[in-house]
Amino acid sequence: MGAKEGFIQFKRETPVSRDPKERIGDYKEIYEPFSGEKLNQQAARCMDCGVPFCHNGCPLGNVIPEFNDAVYNQEWGQAISILHSTNNFPEFTGRICPAPCEASCVLGINKDPVAIELIEKNIAEKAYKLGLIKANPPEKRSGKKVAVIGSGPAGLAASDQLNQAGHEVTLFEKDAKVGGLLRYGIPDFKLEKWVIDRRVALMQEEGVIFTTNTEIGNTNQAEEILKAFDAVVLSTGAAHPRSLNIKGENYKGVHFAMEFLGKQNQVIGGEITENPISAKGKHVIVIGGGDTGSDCIGTSNRHGAASITQLELLPKPPKQRNNLNPWPEWPMTLKTSSSHEEGAERIFSILTKEFTGNEAGEVTGLTLVDIEWVEKGGRMTFEEIPGSERTVPCDLAFIAIGYMGPAQNGLLEAFGAETLENSLPKSKNYQSTNPKVFLAGDMRRGQSLVVWAISEGRETAVKVDEYLMGTSSLPQKDVSFFQVEEQIAG
Ligand SMILES: Cc1cc2nc3c(=O)[nH]c(=O)nc-3n(C[C@H](O)[C@H](O)[C@H](O)COP(=O)(O)OP(=O)(O)OC[C@H]3O[C@@H](n4cnc5c(N)ncnc54)[C@H](O)[C@@H]3O)c2cc1C
Ligand code: SF4
Repeated sequence: MGAKEGFIQFKRETPVSRDPKERIGDYKEIYEPFSGEKLNQQAARCMDCGVPFCHNGCPLGNVIPEFNDAVYNQEWGQAISILHSTNNFPEFTGRICPAPCEASCVLGINKDPVAIELIEKNIAEKAYKLGLIKANPPEKRSGKKVAVIGSGPAGLAASDQLNQAGHEVTLFEKDAKVGGLLRYGIPDFKLEKWVIDRRVALMQEEGVIFTTNTEIGNTNQAEEILKAFDAVVLSTGAAHPRSLNIKGENYKGVHFAMEFLGKQNQVIGGEITENPISAKGKHVIVIGGGDTGSDCIGTSNRHGAASITQLELLPKPPKQRNNLNPWPEWPMTLKTSSSHEEGAERIFSILTKEFTGNEAGEVTGLTLVDIEWVEKGGRMTFEEIPGSERTVPCDLAFIAIGYMGPAQNGLLEAFGAETLENSLPKSKNYQSTNPKVFLAGDMRRGQSLVVWAISEGRETAVKVDEYLMGTSSLPQKDVSFFQVEEQIAG
């Protein structure tokens, strides 16, 4: 380890973001470049802990102190090889991961944690620049064929691993382009799409076959796939949105978040010319305080909304951890996203009661009531505050309160995969109730994060490889260390 006392010498520093007033004029990534010298200082802050809690925090088990050291010593080949040993796509997680590793970094006990996510992004970008990331097709082919259905981060990671194991992988995707929510959910100001295209081109060169514009769902297709392939991975996400179940949800102008974000990403990707849902000049209300809600705020600001208000049922979290939420737990503190910085009013502890509308069936308002959270019988519940009910103007509303589970489109049934009461598929070691059919990502674990989807894809690939070959030499996560907690993206 190079600089043992870097954490005393250097403060945590991350890239400056572009002026919010300027950046809402485009959809480009918001951060300014970060100098090599500064990055070196950030890597030097790592203490190379005897027990690196950052490993525990990362769902992929990233080998963090080792890659920090390689960055400090400017050994980029080593840095990317350490990073790739646990993470297929550090250029994605280095941009959009909420970084649970940083939340469990030992420095975080009484200082700012090591800027692990920033270091990860820079290793990936430097390695691409230096030509250290290039197509590396497997030397031997197994003669086995695997179909992967759904090309989000889970399907991409499973395909990458299975291809490396020598199997012929065909990835079926219903949309025109590959990437799932990386492409059609997350806006460009968080993840520009050339980043996905660059990786997909490499995977193609390595032998993965991508079949887009192909929705798999009916029983005949499933039968054909089950006959033609030796194993199947289902990684179709958790696209069934949760609704508010309040009066007026059917008014024109009330949408699920993904109706808006999906179309905007199609505009940016050149698939369509105009978003049919425009926020320009509108009073926008975003219901839900998570990542998806933030993305609706950022996109509405770029459309030129008249006002944006974000509502959250839960109380406003504290700015600092409290005693009930000690390190190294995920900090339940107030998060201010880059989209919040660009402008939006945030209201906490608020309940939506009813949308109101005009004779043309368009939404015009939303009735709200303040609530108070109280403990009753050992659990937290809320009570409406009498006299606080009011109707606020609303001509566009985005519902961003999460997902119920996989889309209800008969896909699981067609592949003989039984489901639980909560609509998630039954799974044991990533295998469904049909032994030939495996499961990965949000469709298996429920709505989650990109880093978890990559982890699921990798772990599923090991199980598929074992099923096909009796044993697998693909890397597997060391679960003996600690059990990582899942962080849910809203
Ligand atoms: C708006 C939004 C913002 C988010 N922001 C973040 C963030 O900043 N950081 C983070 O870590 N996580 C974020 N998440 C969560 C993250 O994107 C997901 O957890 C992750 O993408 C799940 O990956 P997946 O591969 O399981 O599924 P998905 O990404 O949902 O991919 C599933 C794929 O399957 C395809 N498919 C579905 N059905 C079929 C079918 N029948 N036939 C063929 N193809 C099919 C879909 O078209 C899609 O391409 C966000 C989610 C949303 C909605
Ligand atoms: S916990 Fe933080 S300081 Fe310790 S090894 Fe990991 S990144 Fe470095």
